[in-house]
Amino acid sequence: VIHENICTKKAVSELVAEARRVYEQSFGGDGPQVAVCAPGRVNLIGEHIDYNQGFVLPMALPMVTVVVGSRTSGQSASIITAAKDVEEPRRVDFDLPNDKAPLSPGKPSWANYVKGVVQHYRAPPVPGFRAVIASSVPLGGGLSSSASLEVAMYTFLQQLKPDDGDKVAKAVACQKAEHTHAGVPCGIMDQFVSVLGREAHALLIDCRSLEATPVPLSDPGLVILISNSNVKHSLTGSEYPSRRRQCEEAAAILEKASLRDATLKDLEDAKSRLDDETYRRARHVIEEIERTAQAAEALKKGAYKEFGKLMVESHNSLRDLYEVSCKELDELVSAAVEVEGVFGSRMTGGGFGGCTVTLLQAEAIDRTMQHIQERYSGSPTFYITTPSQGARVMSL
Ligand code: ADP
Ligand code: MG
Repeated sequence: VIHENICTKKAVSELVAEARRVYEQSFGGDGPQVAVCAPGRVNLIGEHIDYNQGFVLPMALPMVTVVVGSRTSGQSASIITAAKDVEEPRRVDFDLPNDKAPLSPGKPSWANYVKGVVQHYRAPPVPGFRAVIASSVPLGGGLSSSASLEVAMYTFLQQLKPDDGDKVAKAVACQKAEHTHAGVPCGIMDQFVSVLGREAHALLIDCRSLEATPVPLSDPGLVILISNSNVKHSLTGSEYPSRRRQCEEAAAILEKASLRDATLKDLEDAKSRLDDETYRRARHVIEEIERTAQAAEALKKGAYKEFGKLMVESHNSLRDLYEVSCKELDELVSAAVEVEGVFGSRMTGGGFGGCTVTLLQAEAIDRTMQHIQERYSGSPTFYITTPSQGARVMSL
């Protein structure tokens, strides 16, 4: 039974072939000239920290969003998504923006991720194009299909008309697209790792300086397992901005530019001036930043037990202090850590559904998935993953 639930990743070449077929059926002509892809991500530790300017430790996934397409002579763009589970229509045509007429968000909502990237492309004006999108990142599952779409789209535009090639600025432009066009006030983590992810490495990102240190993660005795709860609670949309606001409020009361600059002592000293909820939010952030720095050190030493312990502490803090977990994620984590050979497990991404990430000994993989499946009240999907490369151009 388990094997039905293991997601064997579609090879990137298969996705390119799929996108190409759609392109040829829809646009005819000579077929696409360019193919690019950008990965989704899983965050190992450092949750709800990027917008607090702290440390995060994600890795890029083998699952990617592919964009194939061509430049056209017109002043408009046509995009098609091969994704089944998005708002119709799945083809959108729009005029390209100029100084006088910026590109506004609209319907269908999925196209806003593309429009935002076109609007914020760093070498305007964007030339006319046709493109098809195909993805193996689950949509809305907490593995950042949104950033992978933005970064793939940006990488596609770079092939039509190069910008200066600054990768950090590229990630920031894609983040801006999500802010202005998708209406999600996200931090920089997802776009950053989708651009700069490295095969066989996690990235320790300092979200204040925007510097990243690759941390080797390619031990054959170790497995990184993602378990998708396959639920997404409707809270996701409203709770994220509210957490962000609470953190800003706490930083303001502590008289710091961000919670990155605050210590636990600062927090305790200001406790009487914070309401209980704001206090708990800030405490999660301050402790999680420290935990993430420790976890990166542990990973460098191959101290997986210590790393796993920090993962569980992170999960408990997200559940009790930051209050972004849910019954399904708690069940998946509790089940995972009961298995011998599991180092640690935690929710990953924004919360209220989506996925957990579990670090375990390779020999424990079958019994771990079996046990999680038996204990989980819903129906999980498993992804056995390895750290992969960031956005790249592919041959057609
Ligand atoms: P996550 O980033 O965790 O997958 P989000 O809610 O942030 O979840 O982003 C999911 C949204 O991104 C989808 O609802 C859709 O609008 C858009 N999206 C992502 N991938 C694609 C795709 N391949 N085609 C069309 N839209 C996509
Ligand atoms: Mg997203």
